[in-house]
Amino acid sequence: MSDLIEKAKRILKESFGYNAFRPLQEEIIENTLASKDGLVIMPTGGGKSICFQLPALVQAGACLVISPLISLMRDQVEALKQNGVASAYLNSSLSAQEQNEIETKFLNQEIDILYVSPEKLLSRDFYQVIKSVNLNLIAVDEAHCISQWGHDFRPEYTKLGFLKKRLPKVPIMALTATADKATRTDILNQLGIPSAPTYLASFDRPNLSLKVLNAHKRIESIIKLIKQAPDESGIVYCLSRKSCETVAAKLIANGIDADFYHAGLTSEERNETQEKFIRDDLKVVCATIAFGMGIDKSNVRWVIHYNLPKNLESYYQEIGRAGRDGLDSKTLLFYSYADVVQLKRFMEDSPQKELLEAKLNRMQQFAEATTCRRRVLLSYFGEQMEQDCGNCDVCRNPPKFINGTVLAQKALSACARTQEKVGMGLLIDILRGSNRQEVTQNDYHKIKTYGVGKDHSYLEWSHYIGQFLNLGLFEIAFDHHNALRITEAGRRALTGDIPVQITQPETEQARKERMTVKEPTKTAQRSSELFERLRTLRKRIAGELGIPAYLVFNDATLEDMVTRRPTSEESLLDVSGVGQQKLNRFGDQFIKEIISYIKEKNAEGAKMKGATHLITYEFLQEGLSPEQIAEKRKLNVVTIFSHLATLYEQGKNVDIRNHLTAEEEAKIIEAIKATGEPDQLKPLFDHFNEQVPYHKLRLAVAVYKKQNV
Ligand code: ADP
Ligand code: ZN
Repeated sequence: MSDLIEKAKRILKESFGYNAFRPLQEEIIENTLASKDGLVIMPTGGGKSICFQLPALVQAGACLVISPLISLMRDQVEALKQNGVASAYLNSSLSAQEQNEIETKFLNQEIDILYVSPEKLLSRDFYQVIKSVNLNLIAVDEAHCISQWGHDFRPEYTKLGFLKKRLPKVPIMALTATADKATRTDILNQLGIPSAPTYLASFDRPNLSLKVLNAHKRIESIIKLIKQAPDESGIVYCLSRKSCETVAAKLIANGIDADFYHAGLTSEERNETQEKFIRDDLKVVCATIAFGMGIDKSNVRWVIHYNLPKNLESYYQEIGRAGRDGLDSKTLLFYSYADVVQLKRFMEDSPQKELLEAKLNRMQQFAEATTCRRRVLLSYFGEQMEQDCGNCDVCRNPPKFINGTVLAQKALSACARTQEKVGMGLLIDILRGSNRQEVTQNDYHKIKTYGVGKDHSYLEWSHYIGQFLNLGLFEIAFDHHNALRITEAGRRALTGDIPVQITQPETEQARKERMTVKEPTKTAQRSSELFERLRTLRKRIAGELGIPAYLVFNDATLEDMVTRRPTSEESLLDVSGVGQQKLNRFGDQFIKEIISYIKEKNAEGAKMKGATHLITYEFLQEGLSPEQIAEKRKLNVVTIFSHLATLYEQGKNVDIRNHLTAEEEAKIIEAIKATGEPDQLKPLFDHFNEQVPYHKLRLAVAVYKKQNV
């Protein structure tokens, strides 16, 4: 066994370019190499594919991968081919003839990993094919599709139970990113592997930063985020088709390379947008949740939710599309009650109304969390974190609590005096003493609490009332135009029976700072210069080959190149993500680019160095002595004398007589004439038995050079 694992590690480097396994990968592979079944649960981007791809290559025979998504299949096969792995896919997107050709190759053992759609797998002819091939593994990807409890049920998947019955010796590996228990049990039972071990990876994605903002001035915030790194790819998820379009239009109007994507477009239009995004020809996509399902793009650097998702599963899956390469990526969720109201309306008529609302509640709790958000999120998925994450907005900027009793009483009293008939917006207007028509026509300007909240902005009040809702002082009557109602707890707060603690809203100053676009810092710019050059090279190569850029090398690999700056094949091979195949195909070009970058930088550095004597010149002109300049510039005095010599050679008006008498000069020049122009001063120093100091020698050499040009 250990031999096989060693072989697996070798192939991990040779074929995939990775230096080490990620957590659980090794155990899973070991289990498979022992011909055992298994269930793998890892979050998106966790590295599931390697778990079945590696055993497939370590052993004789071929691996069959069942996958429901055509685009994902194509992506994975393309990625494998780039790594020199013999693989192919079979699904309805291919002609009958193309399918025949692949089947023949498969039968001839020319394919190590074959992806098939469930429909294809279930066709009778195909069973004849797999029966005739030596299969070393059957991988069932997106295995949650088997379960009615999962969110993506596919009826054909329920028929996969025949595999274990008909091919009992071939190990089955089921893989999914959906962790809930009902789905898990379902997968194992339906595949006929009830006692197979389950490998549950941590769902934590520490490279994704988490942030939630009040849905106020969303577009401004989005533009700010994009402009900080305009070359990076990102997705804005919107609830409706219309908002996809309007958000995209606003971004475009601000000079951002954006487009929209939703179910209202033709499939050609959708494919085109998706393809452009994958190929880095389009930076930002504003999409309904349909987008991103089947794509493997590893360098999505940020995901924004323009609207509140309906549950944490969707939210986590969607933000999971960022940072699959493991590099730092940003996520941002905009939260508003308007979204909650709209989502509740959608759920109104569903037979599962209660379940859906409970899930939405958890989503809201996450958005309103005043403790580490990652802890809230992971605990929802059944994982307890020991510590706060340090990479969410709450950790970075913990909320400050204030006594909100009086504020709550003002709001509750205003609500009572309007007979609990008004929604949040109108209530705030009343509190702030607005004289808009809706206020005056109902005589709300005559109630006692009119204007008692003048000293707080609209935004502050919506923050407070949001908090009161969280604390259960109010509830929203969704069936009565979303009017605010006072709860039992609310009545007790109103009478002062219970104190109210709330978090402080963001100050106006902080909000302004958040909105202003900061220029990237100089050092960040410089360190990314090489990255940009490598990215450009990658894009050119990808364009020539007609493949997505990240299939050449992903961002993590480029970053590793920037850190290591490899200038030989050997050192390039140390870079994570560089395997033998890619080294052979792209190595030269990347090495060349890195070398030319280093050379240019060195030349620039030399130029900078070349200018240092001019700084000395300026000080000399100010009348400073070489010793004083050395002191000022924190340089050795001999260095300053060499500047002086260079300046003299260049014909600058500098006085060297103070430091070298005519007699000394003549004596040294005579020695130089006898030995030839020296490259170094040491032999000359020795010649005078170390009696003439270096700075005098250097100056005399300058005189000699000047005479002999
Ligand atoms: P999943 O299918 O679980 O969403 P993938 O298999 O696509 O995830 O892997 C996500 C990313 O991580 C890919 O870019 C993959 O190449 C990379 N990856 C997987 N395993 C390793 C590893 N051991 N070392 C470095 N990168 C890895
Ligand atoms: Zn945190």
